Amino acid sequence: VRITFTPIHRRGEGLNGIIAVLQDVTDQEKLEQARREFVANVSHELRTPLTTIKSYLEALDDGAIEEPQLASRFISVTRSETERMIRLVTDLLHLSRLDSKQSLIHKKMTQVSDMLDEVADRFSFQLRQRKIRIHIQVDPDVTSLLIDRDKIDQVLDNLVSNAIKYTGDEGAIQLSARRSNKNDLEITVQDNGIGIPKKDLARIFERFYRVDKARSRNMGGTGLGLSIAREIVKAHGGTIHLDSELGQGTKVMFTLPMQSGEGEAL
Ligand code: ADP
Repeated sequence: VRITFTPIHRRGEGLNGIIAVLQDVTDQEKLEQARREFVANVSHELRTPLTTIKSYLEALDDGAIEEPQLASRFISVTRSETERMIRLVTDLLHLSRLDSKQSLIHKKMTQVSDMLDEVADRFSFQLRQRKIRIHIQVDPDVTSLLIDRDKIDQVLDNLVSNAIKYTGDEGAIQLSARRSNKNDLEITVQDNGIGIPKKDLARIFERFYRVDKARSRNMGGTGLGLSIAREIVKAHGGTIHLDSELGQGTKVMFTLPMQSGEGEAL
């Protein structure tokens, strides 16, 4: 609570009274706290790969460069840390554009089943490498709708890449599209991977929130994938939910509303 006092004087008299204003600043305080945490998180997330890169470069400089095997391992770590930093900065830029509403939504008619087939194609190398099966199911009454294809591709890429990251070899991923009972398009990405503990579910869409930071980093994660997905879905007027059972798997479901006046466009 912020309290401000204003003295009241009547002409010719001394102090006549005081007005005290009590202002509830909980929301402002929370916002400020969230902003401070975000800046601290960004700094930490950038500092970690930079520290790693620095120490590997020093080791190379101290002689490791003369040993080809060691040198090539050190360089490859340096490169993958640099790539992760680029991903992080790119994700931050996307988020900041979405936050400031600078990133406009450019909608175009999109065939849903083609879009899902293409996501699977983009990950086909990783899927094959990890022997993960992907199954796509599109209900017959789902055809096409107006969306910002690039942005929804990013949502799908983030969700499918998570499904792959957090699922063991030979696992299975299901991508499905159907009409919800409110006549929205409902897309589900489901895996049978490691799952998420119940206690973490409420915070999972927060920026940088991760169940296991070390695991996420090792997998190349930035901790921003789900927050970006949520912002993009929100910008389309849809909603996103995540359901998970530890050790059983995770299901992320998002909706995209049909455009008004388009009737059967979906
Ligand atoms: P990250 O880059 O760490 O994957 P995300 O924002 O995409 O960041 O996800 C946040 C966290 O949610 C992840 O670190 C992981 O702990 C958890 N998570 C997301 N998707 C899944 C999934 N399909 N299975 C298990 N855990 C998941």
